[in-house]
Amino acid sequence: MKWSRYNIVVKKRDFLIFNTVTGGLLEFDKTEFYEILKIRKNPNLLNNCKYKDELIENNVFVKNDEYIINKKVFSTFKDRLNSETLSLTIVPTMQCNLACSYCFQDENTHFKKTRVMSNVTVNNLLNFIKSYEGIKYIYIIWFGGEPTLAFNVIETITKRILKETKVYLFSELITNGYSLSKKMIDLLPQLNIIKLQITLDGSKDTHNRRRYDKNKKGTFSKILQNINKVVKCHPKILIAVRVNIDKTNQNEYIHVYNLFKNQKSNIVVYPGFIEDYSSTTCNSVIDDCIINKENRYSFLIEQNKKYGLFKDNLLPEYTEQSCIARTNKGWAIDEKGNLYKCLANIGDLAYSIGNINDVPIIKNEDLLSEFLTGYDYLRNQECLTCESFPICDGGCPFLLIKSKGNKKLYNRCHISKGHYKELISIFTENY
Ligand code: SF4
Ligand code: SF4
Repeated sequence: MKWSRYNIVVKKRDFLIFNTVTGGLLEFDKTEFYEILKIRKNPNLLNNCKYKDELIENNVFVKNDEYIINKKVFSTFKDRLNSETLSLTIVPTMQCNLACSYCFQDENTHFKKTRVMSNVTVNNLLNFIKSYEGIKYIYIIWFGGEPTLAFNVIETITKRILKETKVYLFSELITNGYSLSKKMIDLLPQLNIIKLQITLDGSKDTHNRRRYDKNKKGTFSKILQNINKVVKCHPKILIAVRVNIDKTNQNEYIHVYNLFKNQKSNIVVYPGFIEDYSSTTCNSVIDDCIINKENRYSFLIEQNKKYGLFKDNLLPEYTEQSCIARTNKGWAIDEKGNLYKCLANIGDLAYSIGNINDVPIIKNEDLLSEFLTGYDYLRNQECLTCESFPICDGGCPFLLIKSKGNKKLYNRCHISKGHYKELISIFTENY
């Protein structure tokens, strides 16, 4: 047995040992900790230590850290290549009904009514889905534009998948919530929609200054009414209320949090961070995975110190999930049938891999292979010896491709890297 490279030691009043593989946090007084330090130098002493079982169970002492690396590499590849789930982000239309102040879409694209998925593309989409033999599940994220503006397309595709295939279908609707009609709300369970993501940007005034319709009319009250209607009709549907955060509205998060904190409904509030990735799709929602990590880190710490929020999110957790761009069964598809590996690329043909209306469908194998394996942390020596390796997903493939893996241009590291001691310290103060 030997001391694991994945241990982090923090000195508070006592000594804390956090292991990034198990997420275990152990506390020892000074005498106990010095005994553990002796074992670190001479692992044979472990047999006589009264905490032996605890230390082994939490991976503080391990046979070999290489096993951890092997297991993580194996499970990550399994997840990427052998998934039983086809994960699709589908844009039924690029049209939108809002004109948010931070939207980077050009106005001509925005309100154009022609950009809705055609019947031919819907047919080819069904054929594309059916070509995946052996899958058990399909997870669809309906995205836009504003997907409710082409709700009939969502209905058609869903009903055809349910009728023409034997797979389990679950889906999620990313909507601004403004045009959700009673008919749409009634249909949500029939369309197997288990989650809605809706954005509110703060108090009523702040939200209305940022998220308005094309006549500059504020949208807060109507969106809130629609959220309440969904909650009333379908209490089991999860509603993820996203608060878009930038430098100007960081103090607004607490307003939205307080709005829902006493509701016994299925609503979670979380922060999203707005940045311009020169995407042609809706920037209001794409950046969940490509946020500026330092901004996110300081926001979480500040909100925790001021309001006690995020106390359960401070300790980093082990993850085995890869982004869909790294998996062979993950695709984003726009209303014209163009295929992308990343939803931030939707509408940007420079990043299109092919089109489901063409034969063959895949046109750009080089780009596809770059998304699947390019600049992969599982082959990077620095990553393989990093204490965050067990909990890290290796960063966003799109930004790694954009920066050609250049560390100065894109920090791929996990949010906790370099901040463990502070995070563990604050975590223990919360409890
Ligand atoms: S490539 Fe990056 S932005 Fe795209 S889905 Fe993956 S993590 Fe998100
Ligand atoms: S990307 Fe950064 S945090 Fe993640 S394993 Fe590599 S060096 Fe560590």
